[in-house]
This record gives sequence, C-alpha cells and structure tokens, in this order.
Amino acid sequence: MTHQNYSFDTRSIHIGEEPEYLEGSNNEVVAPIVLSSTFARKQVTNHGRFEYSRTSNPTRLALEKRYASLEQTRYGLGLASGVAAETLLLFTLIKPGDHIIGFDDLYGGTKRLFNLWKEQYDLQVSLVDATQADLIEKAINSRTKLVWLESPTNPLLKVCDIAAISEIAHRHNLLVIVDNTFLSPYFQNPSVLGADIVCHSITKYIGGHSDAIGGAIMLNDDTLYGKLKFNQNALGMVPSPFDCYLVLRGLKTLSLRMERHQSNAMAIAVYLEGHPKVERVYYPGLESHPQYTLNAKQTSGFGGMVSFEIKGGEKEAVQFLESLELFTLAESLGGVESLIEHPALMTHSSITKKERELAGIKDSLIRVSVGVEDKTDLINDLSQAFEKI
Ligand SMILES: *Cc1c(COP(=O)(O)O)cnc(C)c1O
Repeated sequence: MTHQNYSFDTRSIHIGEEPEYLEGSNNEVVAPIVLSSTFARKQVTNHGRFEYSRTSNPTRLALEKRYASLEQTRYGLGLASGVAAETLLLFTLIKPGDHIIGFDDLYGGTKRLFNLWKEQYDLQVSLVDATQADLIEKAINSRTKLVWLESPTNPLLKVCDIAAISEIAHRHNLLVIVDNTFLSPYFQNPSVLGADIVCHSITKYIGGHSDAIGGAIMLNDDTLYGKLKFNQNALGMVPSPFDCYLVLRGLKTLSLRMERHQSNAMAIAVYLEGHPKVERVYYPGLESHPQYTLNAKQTSGFGGMVSFEIKGGEKEAVQFLESLELFTLAESLGGVESLIEHPALMTHSSITKKERELAGIKDSLIRVSVGVEDKTDLINDLSQAFEKI
C-alpha cells in the first residue's frame, strides 16, 4: 500500500512508515531507530540496500520519503542542520566568483554563511527587497547562478511572489531556492509555485518540539539530486538516526500544531495591534500587512511568527522581554512552547548594524514564536510585561 494520494494530514503520519517500508522489517508500526553504522553484505562487491550509515540509513530514509511527500517533490534529503543543508547547496551549486541574489531579510545565519563564502570563494552577493520582483531582475548579471528566497522572512515577515520570481529566474536560466522554514510544508509548497529547490531548518516547525537540530532539502531534478546526495556523503553532513526518529514523530502532529500556532498567532497579532505601547505589528495574517493579498494567494495560511516594534527603543524592549514569565526568552522558533527574542541583540547580532538597518531591523523590534499554549495565558503574560515598562 502506498499513501501518496492521501491528503497532507494523512501523509504526514504515514509516508515512510508504512509497516512494510523495509524489506526484512518486522512490520513495525513505528520506524525503528537503526543505530548500526554499517551493514553486512553477502558478496564482496555487492552491498544490500544499505552499506554505511553516512551514505544512507533506514531511519533517515523513512524520513526522507516523508520530506519529499510533504513538499510534493520527487526527492528529499535529511541533513544535520538547516545550515548544513544551506552549506551543501552552496558547495554544490556555486563556483568561485559566482553571483547570487538573496532576499535582504534572510535568516541571519544564512547571511553569515554567504559572508564566509564571500571570504573563501569570492562569492558575489546582492541582497534586494524581493517584495518587488522587478528588483530581482535588475540585480541579475552574467555571473548570477541563483536566487535565494524566504517567504515570509525572518524577522520582518516580508512576503515575496515565489511564482513571479521563479518565472523571472527561469527566463535567465537561474535556480530558485526557497527556505520554507517559517510556514512549513503544511501552509506552503514552493516547488508547486515554481521553485527548483526547497530547504528547511527542521529544528523549527517540522521537528516542532525544540529537541532536535536538523535540515532538509527537497527537489525534483534527478541530476541535481544525485550531485547533492554524492556531496552530502562526501562532506558528511548527516543527521543521527535518533534525531530522524524525533522528526518522524514530530511530523505526525504538524497539521494540528500549525493550525494552533496560527490561531494563537492571529489572536496575539490582533491584541498587539490594538495595544498603546506597540508601534507596529508584522504578521501576514493581518490585513494591515503590505503583502496580505499576495501571501493569501500563494499559501494556505500565515503561520505562527509575529514581530512587533515596541514604543521606545532597546531599553523598553529589553525591559519588556525580561519581565515575561510564560514566554521563554530564547533564540529559535517553531516549537510547541512560545519563545520570544530581540533580533538585533540575539538572532541577528551576527550581521552588522549597518546591514540590520538596511534591512529595517530596529532596536525596538521583538520577534515572537507563538506556541500552542492557551492563548489567554499568553496574552495575559504579554499584558503584565507591558505594565512593567
Ligand atoms: C533556524 C533557521 C535556519 C538554520 O537552521 P539550523 O537548523 O539552526 O541550522 C535557516 N533558515 C531559517 C529561516 C531558520 O529559521
């Protein structure tokens, strides 16, 4: 039996974990955590389905099948972290002196990685406001290889038109990579919109419980998949079987979690928008969001991330953050527990102040990863912290 034709909710539970998924399985209902680093063979020159766990491992393979199914691509790759996935993509796709175009509001760690590539391999990077698709086209030159997008972005929740940008990029023979971490495949499938490669930090919503670091790449192209698979093995960026198990388990509730993240996030965004101590709220589910209509066109939801500017500056933001009791002051996002952070001093401190200012990340900006707790408890906590400033 294969479950490929079932709906997302069903696939997120079953794909890769069909009891007969492995030859020689014991019909387990849950994919076993196969710890073996190596696999015995009968003939010297022929290995069985598995050879060595850096190359491929049964628990990882179950997860990779699910990744591909959820992003509606032919192939999925599981990696040791989101950044490992990005590193593998840059290593495989970029030659010294190449040029890439990125959204100016990309994840801070992605920009840091681009900076390493600039130093080591003379990578040329143009970061542009991809909310205007024509700025992408203007940035293209004869050395451009690819366009790197997120939608919505981190932390300003800016939205770009993935289909329109993919159309522009393909006219110029460029690849489009979309980091789909923020919405997860539950709300958005970039490959269906025209992107060539989708990547994720599965550390966030896909894993969903803040207990595993991992990354994923999903794509349709056979040749590129072969290269990525070869290079991943050569470079060694693999996740552990235990982490793969945690993600297989986390994925079973992805739909339920995303619905709750979203309804809580909407309630908090509306609350913040009406609060006198709030300057501005960023949430693609609010009609006040500049790309509300575009986002609604390409996704089936808005996700669980909300950012806002508190009135005042760094002092007020820090005072507010340190007064919270239920929200955990921590980097990362996408887990069942609500996390809150100060991008300028935390997640985005690795990029220069000048770059932050260019991208519009103010010292009064606060980013919230809304968890799945009771929304009244969350709003009450925000209220008591506002009263302290
Ligand atoms: C966290 C994150 C990454 C990096 O992933 P890791 O799993 O931490 O290596 C990349 N992109 C986005 C959008 C992220 O939020």
